[in-house]
Amino acid sequence: MPLALPHLTTAHGLTRTTILELFQSAEEYYTRLRIGTKRFDVLQGISVVLAFFENSTRTRMSFEIAAKRLSAEITGFQASASSVNKGETLLDTIRNIEAMHVDVLVMRHSSSGAHEFLRRHAGCRIVNAGDGQHEHPTQALLDAFTLTRKFGHLEGLKYCLVGDILHSRVARSNIPIFKALGAEVAVCAPGTLLPKDIASFGVKTFSDIDTAVAWADAMNVLRIQFERQDQGLIPTIREYTEWFGVKDHHLRLKPNIAILHPGPINRGIELEAIVADAAQSLILPQVEHGVAIRMAVLTALANDIRATRH
Ligand code: ASP
Repeated sequence: MPLALPHLTTAHGLTRTTILELFQSAEEYYTRLRIGTKRFDVLQGISVVLAFFENSTRTRMSFEIAAKRLSAEITGFQASASSVNKGETLLDTIRNIEAMHVDVLVMRHSSSGAHEFLRRHAGCRIVNAGDGQHEHPTQALLDAFTLTRKFGHLEGLKYCLVGDILHSRVARSNIPIFKALGAEVAVCAPGTLLPKDIASFGVKTFSDIDTAVAWADAMNVLRIQFERQDQGLIPTIREYTEWFGVKDHHLRLKPNIAILHPGPINRGIELEAIVADAAQSLILPQVEHGVAIRMAVLTALANDIRATRH
């Protein structure tokens, strides 16, 4: 039986088996895309709306390309040019979209929990492309896929997320996925950028970058989310970079370390420019893998749609 998913709103609860099935499907797409295949008919007859209520470059394009490669019927929804600006509620907006017989809604929204809310109240399939500081499941899947392709598997891999954990939806989705795949997960951040309930995440914590690098096989370097902060949680950028930035000398110390970053990168803040471009950096492979992962996710949704249509 091919993998069928009704929705993808959260990374929590995705089992190791489901994740590995998604990786297997992504690997097949990745290989076919690499040899130049541009069209698959998997989503023929399925309509996908891309609704981005928050800024996005990579994720939006990646979903759009993934859906196009799979032959979906795609509609883009530009929140800044919509009736949301006239005071329409999210649920009303989505119910209107549904009334046009949309099958799948890929949405990014600044409100944490918006997708869970819609999953309960809306009729179409929901894919979370980032909700506030809550979750970003496809980013976590593509991060884990990237490191699985590099290391073969994640069992026992020492994996450290560094930076603004407090506001990071990437971290909140990464932690359950990497743990489900058997990695040892750590976070490295100043105390002010850690969630208060970090103890309940079941991860190791580091408060300086040198110790974290010495421990880790792979680091996922996160951006400081200035747009989600209304108070000065770090004294100055310069001090943050000094204490938590990933630098050239770390790569010399740990030549086999893998560096991930979900983008957009702030060169010279959370990592030195030379680190972003180094051989250890998997930042562009992450972007390439993102399309294959999103194709795998959309395929699993299409399988569920077809199974329930018959
Ligand atoms: N692109 C990622 C996100 O949407 C990371 C970031 O913005 O820093 O969460």
